[in-house]
Amino acid sequence: MNLNPQILIIEDEKNIAMYIASILRGASYRSEFATSGICGLNLAASLCPDLILLDLGLPDIYGFEIIEKIKSSSDIPIIVISARTKESDKVKALDMGADDYITKPFGSGELLARIRACLRHHQKTTRSCTVYKHLNFTIDTDKRLVLLNEEPVHLTQIEYKLLCLLSENAGKVMTYSSIIEKIWGPFMDDNNQILRVNMANIRRKIEENPAQPVHVFTEIGVGYRMAENDAG
Ligand code: CA
Repeated sequence: MNLNPQILIIEDEKNIAMYIASILRGASYRSEFATSGICGLNLAASLCPDLILLDLGLPDIYGFEIIEKIKSSSDIPIIVISARTKESDKVKALDMGADDYITKPFGSGELLARIRACLRHHQKTTRSCTVYKHLNFTIDTDKRLVLLNEEPVHLTQIEYKLLCLLSENAGKVMTYSSIIEKIWGPFMDDNNQILRVNMANIRRKIEENPAQPVHVFTEIGVGYRMAENDAG
């Protein structure tokens, strides 16, 4: 029997947990919830869910500690639920291994889209996908070709690497520091300026209106997110 994905909600505010559970039920996901960090860690270990929705502000254990514990023993994807004002928390959570975040208050459409993207990305990490396609934009890493409206886009080596990295993680936000480390290496100063300059150049080349990008979005104070891959 092919069971629907099971999602563990770790959230101490019962009304929010119930709200999320009802959204998940409506989308035919199975769900469980824990209202404390201890209970969440126990359920994560015993259920081995397909995905975890984690509130960072729990009464007993700091959310970051939960991410660390879960990621040290499993690769269960984690979407962090955070308050709007805490940008640095989102960055820290992502850098510690969380897969994505969603900001309170959120609607059901946004939550479900994040869950779908996260589950899809998680399944995909085992297969390799060499073609990224979104609207009029294509990256074919086999042929090492980047096309906009069927015309080749001329990129520098760094710009190409940046686009490949973002497309491998399409639909997910990548933090500034994780991008810098992957492109320039661990000894690069955590200086976002060089990344911003490269992204501005990329946008001039691939976006019709660089001020209103449709391919690579800025997550202010956090990082960049590439639109989901239409090629699957
Ligand atoms: Ca809370």
